[in-house]
Amino acid sequence: MLHVIDKDYGWIEVICGSMFSGKSEELIRRLRRAKIARQTVAIFKPAIDDRYSSDHIVSHSEQRIPSIAVKSAQEIVGKSRAAQVIGIDEVQFFEAEIVDVCNNLANEGKRVICAGLDQDYKTKPFGPVPQLLAVAESITKTLAICMRCGAPANRTQRLSKDSDQVIVGATEMYEARCRMCYRAPEE
Ligand code: ZN
Repeated sequence: MLHVIDKDYGWIEVICGSMFSGKSEELIRRLRRAKIARQTVAIFKPAIDDRYSSDHIVSHSEQRIPSIAVKSAQEIVGKSRAAQVIGIDEVQFFEAEIVDVCNNLANEGKRVICAGLDQDYKTKPFGPVPQLLAVAESITKTLAICMRCGAPANRTQRLSKDSDQVIVGATEMYEARCRMCYRAPEE
């Protein structure tokens, strides 16, 4: 793992994986440690993600940290000028411009930590995440536990809309699945 010694040395870290893999928990953990190190931290998430809390990043395990909801990647630039460490959650929902924004912030000497889904429920690379992985100094792939067999899981299974018992909401609509248990959705 990378360690910040020189506070002016910028880079990009990406934490990615399926749903229920602990991405937000890992992001929160790193940001808390930066705060302990008395670094100035700014935390963002796309305004599209308003589940649970509009001004906090909340993990499935109910950990939370105050965050700023932004409508565009560009908005992060203006709101992070004083920050040494920048956290971005649900990064897959940003437009392609987020890659340039992260690169520019890192070039300015900031530590940028992005967390998001690497694949959608069809196992296709999600939004700008592939490009972020390409330019990042550090990549952490988080694995969930397959809800069918208990194996390590890196896929997100969207449960059938036809199922009577499905309730709309992140935890009800999806399951973490391993490669063997995952079933591709019918087109
Ligand atoms: Zn499995």
